[in-house]
Amino acid sequence: MFSLSKRQFLRLSGLAIADRLLPWRLRAQEPEPRAEGDLKIILVTFGGGVRYAETFAPEGLRNIPRLRALRSEGRFFKTCINSGVLSHYNSTSSIVTGNWQRVDDFGFGRAASPTLFERYRKASGAGPTDAWAICTNKSFATMGAGRSRDFGEPFGANVVLPKQLLLEAVSGVIARAPAAGVADRANVLRRLENILNAGYEGIGWTIFEGGRRLDRQVKDTLTRSLVEYIHGPEAPSSGDELTFFVAREVMREFAPRLMLVNFWDMDVAHWGAYSLYLQAIAKTDRLCGMLWDEAQTNPAYKGRTLMLTLPELGRDGDADTANGFLNHRSGDPSCRNTWMLALGAGAAKGETDRPIAHVDICATAAELLGVKLGETAGRPIAELI
Ligand SMILES: [Zn+2]
Repeated sequence: MFSLSKRQFLRLSGLAIADRLLPWRLRAQEPEPRAEGDLKIILVTFGGGVRYAETFAPEGLRNIPRLRALRSEGRFFKTCINSGVLSHYNSTSSIVTGNWQRVDDFGFGRAASPTLFERYRKASGAGPTDAWAICTNKSFATMGAGRSRDFGEPFGANVVLPKQLLLEAVSGVIARAPAAGVADRANVLRRLENILNAGYEGIGWTIFEGGRRLDRQVKDTLTRSLVEYIHGPEAPSSGDELTFFVAREVMREFAPRLMLVNFWDMDVAHWGAYSLYLQAIAKTDRLCGMLWDEAQTNPAYKGRTLMLTLPELGRDGDADTANGFLNHRSGDPSCRNTWMLALGAGAAKGETDRPIAHVDICATAAELLGVKLGETAGRPIAELI
């Protein structure tokens, strides 16, 4: 599909490292020995907002051939309920904190309670390359750590926003290297437009808060790397493909024990084109399958990985004539009632009818990692413990 050399990726992945150090330097100084058999957990948001009707409902199965096939290999939870704020940031933040979050939805606030990343790293002493969040949604720069003073960024996940990086890279090309030639710039723009068109905001969004704090040198390096990447032979054609690619590189390079992968392209539905929404669902299905393929073939993950895949929220029902599939604000069951597929270590094959909730994911993962959560809204899911 597409590839990036290890050298390029290492330069790229310096983004938002919580303690301001580049990861390859950390690796050189502090190798992190891991006991054999350590469980690894990958949380995947089948994200951007998708309804049951286009996924695991009988009429939706045609959109998700990979997950449909994988359903019988793991444990399928038929009802996973989002009882919180129906926005992307809050819904995802609730998944990674175990508490229903209600913060600014543009990523300028932080979760009121610590994330699983912080809890895990503080409790275990795990290093900064052991927890990552790779996110298509540009507002997720603060997804790696909440605002609790006892935790915070020193214990948080590395957050990488690959699509945002690419956007900044192009701005850099246009602004700083006019001598590169019109043909090259046109090429960059053409490729980037394909990626940007997959998100409903389009061109012109603001730089996320985390980006402004990036070390200048790291940022310049990232920009250069991405420009090289764009000119490579196999550039990805959507934000989620780039997120998948970076997530897979993180798995291969750092083998973190805990990772969030946020897909988001299907939120293109806000534009009102049902066919684009369906295309994005099919692509997310394919990428989730490829992520699971990697977890089954990568020696660091094979046989010891639990991958939990769920939509962070649904979309409005067709009965809601004011909105339909376009939005996700009505609060009707089509918005709140989703599903979860658990694959791999500890997920006994079968299906569970009783409802679980988005906040239960964090509680479950914490239990499996041996981390005490304290008071949370979520409860460990018995079928996975
Ligand atoms: Zn949306």
